[in-house]
Amino acid sequence: MIQARGYAAHSTDTPLVPFSFTRREPGDDDVLIDILYSGICHSDLHQARGDWGNSVYPMVPGHEIVGRVTQVGKNVSKFKTGDYAGVGCMVDSCLHCKACRLNLEQYCEEGATLTYNDKERGSDQLTFGGYSDRIVVKEHFAVKVSDKLDLKAVAPLLCAGITTYSPLRHWKVGPGQKVGVIGLGGLGHMGVKFAHAMGAHVVMITTSADKGRDAKRLGADDVLVSRDADAMAAHAGTFDFLLNTVPVSHDVNPYLALLGLNGTMALVGALTPLDPIPGANLIMGRKSIAGSAIGGMEETQEMMDFCAEHGIVSDVEMVPIQSVNEAYERLIKNDVKYRFVIDMASLAAEQPLAA
Ligand code: NAP
Ligand code: ZN
Repeated sequence: MIQARGYAAHSTDTPLVPFSFTRREPGDDDVLIDILYSGICHSDLHQARGDWGNSVYPMVPGHEIVGRVTQVGKNVSKFKTGDYAGVGCMVDSCLHCKACRLNLEQYCEEGATLTYNDKERGSDQLTFGGYSDRIVVKEHFAVKVSDKLDLKAVAPLLCAGITTYSPLRHWKVGPGQKVGVIGLGGLGHMGVKFAHAMGAHVVMITTSADKGRDAKRLGADDVLVSRDADAMAAHAGTFDFLLNTVPVSHDVNPYLALLGLNGTMALVGALTPLDPIPGANLIMGRKSIAGSAIGGMEETQEMMDFCAEHGIVSDVEMVPIQSVNEAYERLIKNDVKYRFVIDMASLAAEQPLAA
């Protein structure tokens, strides 16, 4: 076993605290990664606080991981010691079901193994995430990271990046289309950057007029404040595609009214029930509501390469691990531009817990 340490939640309503634990010894297909940076996703907050009713404790959150490979198993071909690597939301899957064979491991029919708040395949050992000093992962579930990019701003690509890139690609967003990104947070700001880079006309749809002013810097052509009924009416029926990153249950009907003929709104945020939708709001205009979860490993590598090619990274605010609970409070208040990233050097500077 490998000794590791990090920060863990021990219940739905207690702060994250320092935590020592073990990880499996790296096997033939594994890489061992020293974690340099770990992004803070709203999903970390949902799971640490038990919002989805599936939380297992102790929980070390974190699924936006960038680090340096320090050991490779004998079957590993993609990495060598010293390379930079990224790990996202999943660390394993069956690799033989229909979804896995289509390189969509996130939809594995047996259930993909999540980076934290899950159990290792075939064992009762809990998985522990990126708010920690090191991680052991099958090389298939790690991606190569270009050293041309600012590494700390790369970490959020592993979740916020791929979760927005994948639906934009799946629904073939590109030139000549009007695309709306709903919610200017960690996911939303990446959605704007990608949709812009893919050549679409991009509208940032936000509840915060203040943040909206910043959206043009990120690549938005226009900003629509969803609380402004007149502005919403002016854009009615004009969008080809909407990417909805709102993290909570909400009324989607005002957004459906924005879609034009054959328009689609893809949900990536709320897992919880939505307000009722009158059938007419979909039937008239042949509109669709769909959903999307992260992206497969091949597409995650494609997204990383797209980012290296286009110079795309996340806008980050760095925090030491000791401030993670404060960062969670600010995330709830929408007070982050646009992703908190933990500098894991702050953990190294902390005295280890007595064994
Ligand atoms: P975030 O940084 O907190 O951003 C969410 C944004 O949504 C906020 O900044 C805010 O933007 C807007 N918003 C918040 N409450 C709202 C409300 N009541 N009505 C309308 N807009 C509201 O969160 P994130 O990290 O981007 O994550 C977003 C969601 O995606 C979370 O639920 C997370 O769990 C989920 N997620 C899903 C996947 C997946 O695979 N599908 C992957 C990662 C995360 P404005 O201030 O601009 O309105
Ligand atoms: Zn996430």
